[in-house]
Amino acid sequence: MAPARSGLNAFRQFEAFVDFLHNIAVIGAGMAGLAAARVLQQAGKNVQIFDKGRRPGGRMSSRCNAHGLFDLGAQYFTVRDPDFARLIQSFEQQDVVTRWPQVMASQSGGQWQTQRPEHPRYAGMPSMAVLPEALAESLEIRQQVRITSMTRARSKWVLKDQNGRCWSGFDHVIVAIPAPQAAELLGDVASRFSLPDMSSCWSTWVCLEAPLNMPAGIDTWHGAFLEDSPVLRWAARQQTRPGQPDGERLSLLSRDDWSDRHLEGDSARVADEMVHAFQQAYPEALPAIEAQGAHRWRYAQPRRPADDNAGYVIDMPEGLSLCGDGYIDGRVEAAWLSGTRLARAICNS
Ligand SMILES: Cc1cc2nc3c(=O)[nH]c(=O)nc-3n(C[C@H](O)[C@H](O)[C@H](O)COP(=O)(O)OP(=O)(O)OC[C@H]3O[C@@H](n4cnc5c(N)ncnc54)[C@H](O)[C@@H]3O)c2cc1C
Repeated sequence: MAPARSGLNAFRQFEAFVDFLHNIAVIGAGMAGLAAARVLQQAGKNVQIFDKGRRPGGRMSSRCNAHGLFDLGAQYFTVRDPDFARLIQSFEQQDVVTRWPQVMASQSGGQWQTQRPEHPRYAGMPSMAVLPEALAESLEIRQQVRITSMTRARSKWVLKDQNGRCWSGFDHVIVAIPAPQAAELLGDVASRFSLPDMSSCWSTWVCLEAPLNMPAGIDTWHGAFLEDSPVLRWAARQQTRPGQPDGERLSLLSRDDWSDRHLEGDSARVADEMVHAFQQAYPEALPAIEAQGAHRWRYAQPRRPADDNAGYVIDMPEGLSLCGDGYIDGRVEAAWLSGTRLARAICNS
């Protein structure tokens, strides 16, 4: 029996060695890339993440400036999938996320109304960015590295960054970036996949000198769907997010048809037009504005939910796969699901 056991041990060691050699690169440290990397790391794979931003989070990142902390991308998220629910429950217990907005308003037919959301909505505490940052703990991420090309030779991928540095030896590459950027990076290879189209969005932040007056019959509101406005679809009061300092601060999101038409507009002018649109939609006069600015998301959300419900695309023989919200729908949870499902498929292959 002894030789057989030592043979088995040797085989296990060999297996572990092969697994160790299974190097995977993830391009993009948004929700999808982080979710994929966590599953792969837990399965014992060697994972290296590259992200062009200063911090992980992508479209969940927050902006901190002299006037406060603003969420200019995802505003809140919903939870439907049981695995995602378990993760969020544990983050809720650790005060990483909390329920927000608790008071939703809607403006429709010239009327403002409030309601308590039927299903809970969540946000990072104090801002959305803390959720991806919590997911990124224990992962190896090279920030401020933009991958500009990728080539495959003898079954290994070589990635090149903006400084011309090569990162080599990857058996598999996961491209977890918005589909139009993935298409640009992959070049001709992209034609093998059906990639989702994405809409743009302008996000404007506004710091007011005094609190907003509430519309008649409304005590407070945290976030509002603006159904009548031809320019805006959403407004949020940043200071109502738990953990945020006082001081009236708004984030305003444009409608996608409006942002598509103003995509190349000057950001100062875009901010002016969006604030003006909010004033038109809001029944009370706005206090004086201390500061404002606009951020453009060229690729904000997929234009429509994906037809195929796998949630990712993969070419296992080529060691290449793609994930992100675009392969399901434009939500934080969808991005997490896409990355998680893809990584499980890689582990099971
Ligand atoms: C304005 C706005 C409002 C939204 N509101 C909501 C909401 O209320 N609720 C909700 O659930 N969802 C919302 N979303 C959608 C949500 O933000 C996304 O679904 C989710 O964050 C997408 O995650 P992702 O990982 O697929 O992509 P991303 O978050 O875009 O991550 C991609 C990452 O790749 C990096 N990257 C890109 N190219 C390269 C490269 N060449 N090399 C290296 N790194 C690269 C980027 O820096 C980024 O970190 C909103 C999005 C926007 C823009």
